[in-house]
Amino acid sequence: AEDMLIRSEKLTNAGQLAAGVVHEIRNPLTSLKGFVDLLEAGIDREREYYKIIKDEIEKIESISSELLFISKPLTNNQTVCQIQPIVDEVISLMQTHAKQYDVEIIRSNSCEALLYLDRSQIKQVFINLVKNAIEAMQSEGTIDISIDQNENNCNVYIEDEGPGIPQHLLHKIKEPFFTTKEEGTGLGLMITNRIIENHNGEFKVESSESEGATCIVSLPLHDHE
Ligand code: ADP
Ligand code: MG
Repeated sequence: AEDMLIRSEKLTNAGQLAAGVVHEIRNPLTSLKGFVDLLEAGIDREREYYKIIKDEIEKIESISSELLFISKPLTNNQTVCQIQPIVDEVISLMQTHAKQYDVEIIRSNSCEALLYLDRSQIKQVFINLVKNAIEAMQSEGTIDISIDQNENNCNVYIEDEGPGIPQHLLHKIKEPFFTTKEEGTGLGLMITNRIIENHNGEFKVESSESEGATCIVSLPLHDHE
């Protein structure tokens, strides 16, 4: 019976997500239709309208590609590996992007812990978190990534020097489609949280306003699986 309960809960979540997706995609579609109508009517602000149309198409594009990621089966590709090389791979991947904002990404210590991970999914987790940190800073600063381990878990801390997250919004940031960004999808942290939960880990975000944000990813050590 418990199994049934869990299954129906998952179904509801999927249903809610689907409803959210429809809502989020319908808005740009309605807007697209409206602007195409205007162009068809031969309005003289063509350039402006093409820009809006392109922005709306890009919004639908990003929602689709992020959703594609969660439609893939979760954690069926796990292997025993260290987490640090994955973190380093993401750092070098994001370094060019960060430099454009004068943001520096550093890893301040090392950790050789062995974990049981789906590498590509965990890589996606750190890409999402570093991307958010860069977007939050928007100007000169440092993103500090550190890794440590205790008896049972390995923890990765991603600390930025951005404006932080107001206390009253902290409980909303993992909800699908919650975004404070013009071009955001609000799917990054929901996907991040799902991937970590599927690895039996825990995802926390700490922030005090104007002190930046710290994302903490805790994952079980391989020996403790
Ligand atoms: P998106 O990046 O598309 O907005 P996310 O799910 O990645 O969606 O993030 C949701 C929201 O959480 C962001 O819009 C932002 O308001 C907040 N947020 C996430 N990370 C940070 C951070 N490092 N600093 C400040 N705010 C953040
Ligand atoms: Mg994001």
